[in-house]
Amino acid sequence: MFNRVDHIGVAVEDIDASLELYERDYGMTLVHRETVTEQGVEAVLLDVGENHIELLAATGPETPVGKFIAKKGPGMHHVAYQVDDIEATLASLKEAGLKLIDETPRIGIRNSRVAFLHPKTAGGLLTEIVQPAQVH
Ligand code: ZN
Repeated sequence: MFNRVDHIGVAVEDIDASLELYERDYGMTLVHRETVTEQGVEAVLLDVGENHIELLAATGPETPVGKFIAKKGPGMHHVAYQVDDIEATLASLKEAGLKLIDETPRIGIRNSRVAFLHPKTAGGLLTEIVQPAQVH
């Protein structure tokens, strides 16, 4: 069902401060930076081979990532799996009894189509399904 891990999402307090670790110390290449206003996040993607690390900073305290950081502090936020057909995947997961946060895909960064699964039925881990805008 899943082609590969697309990215690991990491909640951070400050993107630029975090880039000192990921870009400077780890030597990862920053490939994309975008603010998704309706989700209340500023996001960057860094390359790790074919996969990515996604750093997420809240645009305000009342956003999902802002609440996450207030409750748990910075750290791992979600895992994202890449698929070819997000509608078919969501239908199959729903059929299997998983709780979907997004019943229909929405637009993620780089014009991908994304949907989140609730941690309660996903082994305690917020899980994202990603269909990239173009196949790599
Ligand atoms: Zn993500």
